[in-house]
Amino acid sequence: MSKIKMTTPLVELDGDEMTRVLWAAIKDILLKPRIDLKTEYYDLGLNERERTSDKVTLDAAEAIKKYGVGVKCATITPNAQRVEEYKLSKMWKSPNGTIRAALDGTVFRAPVLVDGIKPLVSNWVKPITIARHAYGDVYSGVEAYVPDGGKVYIELPDGRKTLVKDMPSAGIIQAVHNLDKSIAGFARSCFNYALSTKQDLWFSSKDTISKVYDHRFKDIFAEIYENEYKTRFEEAGIEYFYTLIDDAVARVMRSSGGFIWACKNYDGDVMSDMLATAFGSLAMMTSVLVSPDGKFEYEAAHGTVTRHYYKHLKGEATSTNSVATIFAWSGALKKRAELDSNRELLEFAERLEKATVDTIESGTMTKDLVGLFRKEGVTPKGVGSIEFLQATAERL
Ligand code: NAP
Ligand code: MG
Repeated sequence: MSKIKMTTPLVELDGDEMTRVLWAAIKDILLKPRIDLKTEYYDLGLNERERTSDKVTLDAAEAIKKYGVGVKCATITPNAQRVEEYKLSKMWKSPNGTIRAALDGTVFRAPVLVDGIKPLVSNWVKPITIARHAYGDVYSGVEAYVPDGGKVYIELPDGRKTLVKDMPSAGIIQAVHNLDKSIAGFARSCFNYALSTKQDLWFSSKDTISKVYDHRFKDIFAEIYENEYKTRFEEAGIEYFYTLIDDAVARVMRSSGGFIWACKNYDGDVMSDMLATAFGSLAMMTSVLVSPDGKFEYEAAHGTVTRHYYKHLKGEATSTNSVATIFAWSGALKKRAELDSNRELLEFAERLEKATVDTIESGTMTKDLVGLFRKEGVTPKGVGSIEFLQATAERL
């Protein structure tokens, strides 16, 4: 059987620990036997980040800008303990943060659904994709405790001074900001991703209460939609709509899924944890970073699964779920195929996703899923990390 050819390389960002082990196995067992895999490889493993003073992360981000599509393995974000463990010269920043900043991108998270693992909300039959604006608001807020009360003002560069409150007694204050440019980038990433996945886009905030701040978000989204995306949305048969955050929450719970929900920073932080839990398992949650000018980086939402890695190092059997990482690869391959008009590659990526889901639905899965799985006539069987990939390969 001749292998599927690729014309443009995929930017490949390798990572750490158990996911690094799975990464190599996915390539060997699922991809390389069938594709003439063409990647530009960047090793974002912590040792290499240390060796290059984290230049490798910046280089990888530049490569994604150049080629347009990347796929990333989970990586360690160093903390004090990791500095010790890896003898680091510095507590390097989170690679995801660095790449997100370089691409000015927005992260979209969506669960992989399989028959047998039912979302806690029974009417959710399609995935709900959540997008979080990862800039500003309370995450870069300025706060103070005002022990004796008194007058607190906001002063603007043009000299305007607004009284926040003449505080009669002790209390707290907070000032937050956002930037038109960041909101516009967020909006464009959301519109691009909606077009790319042919799903409706919802955006919610609290503009009835926050008449300047949240209203600015609403206005920027509306203006960009009207001027740049409306026609393309109509052609694609998808919809953009804005609603209040409380109304959005109610609609989400009643919906059957199948749309993108764009959230402000705090809403997205909170709601993404709710959705991940309600859909069943973090190990089944995929993630894609989309830049305002349409560059894509695919990954799993979970981390490097450290506990399993230490078992693996001791030579013990592991049963680590590779689904989100497989879908990071299939997502990136599909996007590459679409950009290069490579039908064979597109069909392979679709087959890979179907084979992965079919394997689980027929009862073969990693142990984390066994307790969640309920399907009439199918008894779930927990298998090892590699056995799962082999079982999937047999269906390709
Ligand atoms: P984690 O790697 O997501 O794992 C937390 C726990 O969730 C695991 O111990 C495991 O539970 C379960 N789990 C997660 N993914 C799984 C999978 N694929 N298969 C089976 N079980 C899975 O989070 P963490 O332990 O907080 O972080 C570990 C490292 O990952 C940290 O160094 C952190 O910096 C990094 N991290 C990276 C990213 C990223 O690159 N995107 C994201 C988050 C964290 P059991 O142990 O109970 O089996
Ligand atoms: Mg959170």
